[in-house]
Amino acid sequence: MIIERIKLNDYRNYASAEVFPGRGVNLFTGDNAQGKTNLLESVRLASVGRSARTTRWQELVRRGAKAASVSVRVRSDAGADEVTVRLGDAKTVLVNGYPVSRMGELMGVVKTVLFTPDELRIVKEGPGERRRFADIALCQLSRGYFYTLTRFNRVLAQRNRLLKGSPTDEELSVWDMQLAREGARITYTRRQFAARIAGFAAAVHADISGGEKLETGYEGAEGDSIAEIESGLLDALAQSRERDRRFSVTHVGPQRDDISIRSDGMDLRAYGSQGQQRSAALSLKLAEMELMKSEGGEYPILLLDDVLSELDEKRQSKLIERIKAYQTIITCTHLTDDVREKIGEITEFRVRAGTVERSDK
Ligand code: ATP
Ligand code: MG
Repeated sequence: MIIERIKLNDYRNYASAEVFPGRGVNLFTGDNAQGKTNLLESVRLASVGRSARTTRWQELVRRGAKAASVSVRVRSDAGADEVTVRLGDAKTVLVNGYPVSRMGELMGVVKTVLFTPDELRIVKEGPGERRRFADIALCQLSRGYFYTLTRFNRVLAQRNRLLKGSPTDEELSVWDMQLAREGARITYTRRQFAARIAGFAAAVHADISGGEKLETGYEGAEGDSIAEIESGLLDALAQSRERDRRFSVTHVGPQRDDISIRSDGMDLRAYGSQGQQRSAALSLKLAEMELMKSEGGEYPILLLDDVLSELDEKRQSKLIERIKAYQTIITCTHLTDDVREKIGEITEFRVRAGTVERSDK
């Protein structure tokens, strides 16, 4: 899948801009605070329906303007598609000109993998970051997963709200059944995701780091089938009921799951150095590219914000070698000649105060 056009209106510091990326590596350079990250953010917004930087989409509207819009046109084996996100009184999404009634219809139209210096947190921070990593990838691969997750979150919120009062056993039982049903699907799907990505991540990591072993696994309810996980969750919910009542929160379910990340036996979440955590995060993202290709038939678009400068030379070279296989959108403040040479063919753009210009011709 490749992006053919990005069009912005009153988005962040862009009044209006139109960008036509090339097939391979696209480089956006510019000084600090010119709009490089904003551009990547807009692509991600059209891809997964939200910004990686903020949950308040009102911030995305250019200061002083009333509404913003982002359009991203992609071409895939299936043909051309365009996603438009309008941010005005509300957030509305259009796919090929038609407003979608459910956000799930957006998922998978523009498939992206995002890697920024912030993504280090998928290794370093709490389990929520790793669950989000799995969930965003899975939602792009399957709308069914998106809807299951939406239902699960609703059930969980309702059960937790109920726990704030003094629910009867009967009341709780109703929610336990729904929680176990949706929760089992999520744990099962994420567990499969973790198992499949583990192989890709190990291979990518060995390549990038020169032989280091990376092992990832899923930590959550056990079971080989959805039914098995569901009945396990039901039992666990029953057992944790008194505790749930006492703390007014649900202690059992996929909202507590995690993905383990180990290198040569050491838990990188707790003990990894900054550099190790960064490489593991990068390996996971590149593994996500491979997984999405193996599941979806095509590579997604890789979005790299400011990451080349953060890697040591060896990892940088390895990364550059790999990104040539995809359409990649990279931002950085400047590129040294030897890195430019390593990349080879580049489509270059210059970002300056909310404007973008082709600079390689
Ligand atoms: P860096 O190299 O420092 O990462 P960048 O080119 O990636 O810089 P961006 O993060 O894209 O910079 O932000 C560019 C500018 O956008 C900032 O100066 C910020 O003030 C501005 N900006 C952010 N939101 C809005 C908005 N809603 N309206 C107008 N300007 C905004
Ligand atoms: Mg930036």
